[in-house]
Amino acid sequence: MAGDYDYARNELEEDEMKIKTGIEYMDSLKQLNPVIYYMGKKIKDVTEHPATAPHVRAAAMTYAIAVQDEYKDLATATSHLTGRTIGRFTHVHQSVEDLIKKVKLLRLLGQKTGTCFQRCVGFDGINAVYSTVYEIDQKYKTNYMERFKKWLIRIQDENLMVVGAMTDPKGDRSKGPAEQKDPDQYLHIVERRENGIVIRGAKLHMTGAVNSHEILIMPTTAMNESSKDYAFICSVPIDAPGIIMIFGRQANDSRRDMNESIDVGKPSFGVVGGEAVIVFEDVFVPWENVFMDGETDFTGLVVHRFAAHHRANYGACKTGLMDVLTGAVTYLAHSQGTAKGSHVRDKVTEMIHLSETLYSSSIACSAEGVPTSSGAYMVDTMLANVCKHNVTRFHFEVARLAVDLAGGFIATLPSEHDLQSEEVGHLVKKYFLGVEGIPVEDRIKIGRLIEAMTGGTAMVESMHGAGSPQAQRIMIFREGQLNKKMKLAKALAGIPQRKKFYHHNSARSDRNIIF
Ligand code: SF4
Ligand code: FE
Repeated sequence: MAGDYDYARNELEEDEMKIKTGIEYMDSLKQLNPVIYYMGKKIKDVTEHPATAPHVRAAAMTYAIAVQDEYKDLATATSHLTGRTIGRFTHVHQSVEDLIKKVKLLRLLGQKTGTCFQRCVGFDGINAVYSTVYEIDQKYKTNYMERFKKWLIRIQDENLMVVGAMTDPKGDRSKGPAEQKDPDQYLHIVERRENGIVIRGAKLHMTGAVNSHEILIMPTTAMNESSKDYAFICSVPIDAPGIIMIFGRQANDSRRDMNESIDVGKPSFGVVGGEAVIVFEDVFVPWENVFMDGETDFTGLVVHRFAAHHRANYGACKTGLMDVLTGAVTYLAHSQGTAKGSHVRDKVTEMIHLSETLYSSSIACSAEGVPTSSGAYMVDTMLANVCKHNVTRFHFEVARLAVDLAGGFIATLPSEHDLQSEEVGHLVKKYFLGVEGIPVEDRIKIGRLIEAMTGGTAMVESMHGAGSPQAQRIMIFREGQLNKKMKLAKALAGIPQRKKFYHHNSARSDRNIIF
């Protein structure tokens, strides 16, 4: 299953980005020595191991398209730090146009891979940290930005893949970081040395971690003064001493081990991003890679900005996946002679409507983007939260319609071994044939693709990636400007504006509402 995509096509000029093609990205991973466990055993090479290789190939697509002329405008950018051409996934958004190009790039990559290509987590981390660090320096006269820029220039020039690490295990969630019985439930600084810090703890749900080059660590939540040792931002190479990763299982992952390329459904790429636990066992980080240390009053801001950027993405990458699903059920309908049925057309129409509606919210939160004081652009946070929240409904509804249209066919599909069997292969071919002229194998392949894209971990990712639905509901309510909306209603109803009786934090400085 080498994948059917030519990652090496179209070389860039010599002086541009160090890792250029998808092949170069995969080769660069071979130079690293991360400690990764899967099913109780160590993975030696993530580019070869059947559990991780599909995710590597999906991430490689972010490099591969950047060297194709037709996609260069979306997939590359000009660094505001160096003026050099860089991969967009290492760029700090300088305009609304940048935000919109990102959205278009993610939809395109979703269409090409049908899965999570993982590289946006570090992208969003870079953007959230950049603007936050600038504001920390302004307030405390620190020099984090200087360090961060130096680090970022290296990431940009070498075109590295960064995993943004935010979510801590959190232990007992009724307690804060400093109140946990086991302090390691939140990643924390255990020692401050002359030359750096030592950190211990873990980060969970780390998309693309095993095939990244660097980890950008951020706090997981807003913290108070008691949590200074938990309030830090830093970066470490993926194979720094003391880092152990444990790669998660996914629905139907054992099919990958059995050389059943048809049964996998999408043999070239994974069904989801490939999540890992990253454990930090007393990992040393030199000061030049520490970008926040104890400024607890900025923890909420960096989380807020990271979450907004990542939630904005979901209306793009997942729309790409929905495009593939819509195409898959349409092809399946053609292969079984149902494509002209009015109910089929109606359901496909609904799938398209939901996909484009979702995409609209991704475009909208980007079009409404605003500059932060650092000059880096932020998406509109209300619309970004609405966007991600829409994913938790629309993607599921699109998947439901796809399963509906596919019929019971998928539930009874025999394995590839039966299809190839000398004893029963002819029976499978006879009874799973649909419209004459369309090979039975193609009908089975598209059925397996629909199965892979509508089940198990693929859909869990849509629900909980970039924060569970409740996280968006909290933000939507918080940013709902209810005081202003009450004023609108009262003015129209002829009720005098008396003193405020409803105290709700609805202050928004970056969002325009028309009065
Ligand atoms: Fe990017 Fe989407 Fe994957 Fe998040 S879920 S890393 S936004 S592809
Ligand atoms: Fe995600």
